[in-house]
Amino acid sequence: MKKIVFATNNKHKLFEIRSILRNDFEVLSLSDIGYDKDIPETGNTLAKNASQKSHTIYNKFNIDCFSDDTGLDIDALDGEPGVYSARYAGENASYNDNVNKVLLKLNGIKNRKAAFRTVVSLILDGKEYQFEGSVSGKITLKKRGGGGFGYDPIFQPNGFDSTFAEMPLDIKNKISHRGKAMEKLVLFLNGQR
Ligand code: IMP
Repeated sequence: MKKIVFATNNKHKLFEIRSILRNDFEVLSLSDIGYDKDIPETGNTLAKNASQKSHTIYNKFNIDCFSDDTGLDIDALDGEPGVYSARYAGENASYNDNVNKVLLKLNGIKNRKAAFRTVVSLILDGKEYQFEGSVSGKITLKKRGGGGFGYDPIFQPNGFDSTFAEMPLDIKNKISHRGKAMEKLVLFLNGQR
C-alpha cells in the first residue's frame, strides 16, 4: 500500500484520517518519521497555516506529505475563534478551556450558528495542492458526548440531533469539515496513480 505522511502528531486527527484513508493509504505520523517537535503556525489564515505545516515537513524530509488546519467560525462572535481555535483561551489552553470560553461568550445569545472549516495542503512531487471542506451547524447550550475532541461536545451539525462528540466516528467522518476535505484529497490522489 502506498505511504503518505500526515504532518501532525495530533492523535485524534491521526485516528480520524487513518480510518478515512484505510483502504487507500498507509498514513505515517510525524513521530513515525522521527519528528517530535511542534510545527509553527504563524499565519493569519487556515490556508497559510496548512501550507506552512506541509512545507516545514517537505523542506526537512523531501517527502510527499499533507497537513490540515481547522477553525471554528462562530457567527455571533464575528468568526471567532477561527484561525485561533487551538489557542482561543490562551497559549496553553486545553480543549475544555476553549470550549468553556465559547460557552461563556455565547451565554444568553440566541444566534448559535457556527461552521467548521478545514484546509488541507498536500505536497506531491514538490508541488502544492489545497482542498477545503466545511460543515455548518450550531453551538449547543452545554457540552454533550464523550467522543471526538476539541469543540466536538458543543458542535451540532445541521440535520442532526447529536453533537459530533455523541456520534460514531464513521458518521462524523462522512459529514465533517475534515472528512470532506479528505474526500477531495483521496479523489485527487487516486487520480494521480
Ligand atoms: P488545528 O490548528 O487544525 O490543529 O485545529 C485547531 C483547533 O480546532 C484544535 O485545537 C481543536 O480545538 C479544533 N478542532 C480541529 N478539528 C476539530 C474537530 O474535528 N472537531 C472539534 N474541534 C476541532
